[in-house]
Amino acid sequence: MSTVETVRGPVDAGELGTTLMHEHVFILQPEALQNWGHAFGPLYWDEQERLADAVAKLGAVREAGIRTIVDQTVPGLGRYIPRLQTLNAEVDLNIVVATGVYAFIELSKNAQARTGLEALEALTSHGVKPERIVIAHAGDSNDLAYLRPIADTGAWLGCDRFGIEHFNPLPDRISTLLALLGEGYGKQIHLSHDAACFYDFFVGDPAFADEKPDYLLISNQVLPALREQGVNQAQIDEMMVDNPRRFLTGIDAAPRPEAAAGAAAVEIAR
Ligand SMILES: [Zn+2]
Repeated sequence: MSTVETVRGPVDAGELGTTLMHEHVFILQPEALQNWGHAFGPLYWDEQERLADAVAKLGAVREAGIRTIVDQTVPGLGRYIPRLQTLNAEVDLNIVVATGVYAFIELSKNAQARTGLEALEALTSHGVKPERIVIAHAGDSNDLAYLRPIADTGAWLGCDRFGIEHFNPLPDRISTLLALLGEGYGKQIHLSHDAACFYDFFVGDPAFADEKPDYLLISNQVLPALREQGVNQAQIDEMMVDNPRRFLTGIDAAPRPEAAAGAAAVEIAR
């Protein structure tokens, strides 16, 4: 079995277990901290307090049965591995860290503006295989006519903002996910929350006052709702265990546009 690199070192892919594919731990940009936390305003960051808070929050994640999170905090969002190492020494959770760049402007992924298709095209035109690409935040859209063509290339759909009501309310996210499962796209879906223990841009901004990042919303609300609608455990394991492992190892992640065919639509047991 191949291994996947984590903050604590390589982990056997078979040990990744239930995985949240798009989360964050700390969104804390040093430039913001140095300017607004030191030069122009009151300090909003207390290292020990925030570490203790993260240990509690991620400890609860582990206790709920999640064994791995992928921290998508790339350079540009405040990636800082030593802080995660300090944290991870206190929490028994695999943390896979993303690298690369935060290309919010250059490769915008705005589901409402359907820019996922453009991002996909930009990457595949440079030779990236679709099965190595996740269109993150695709789940902000409920437009199946937008989502199907992404998945039909073999790329992954990031249904990864459960709980961010501002972009798409929970009942709509669940309905869209059920529709995708009904059409046989379960093998190409990543489930996550895009949550974090701390976001520096929330500090003092009333626009974010109602945001309640919750790493366990999928476990506590989404999966029970799916089960109520007849989604079985094998389908849930596929999204929460198998798909993350397949994506992170690159093994058994071949494009499968035939997934859209009707045969798979019977996967939802009624
Ligand atoms: Zn994110």
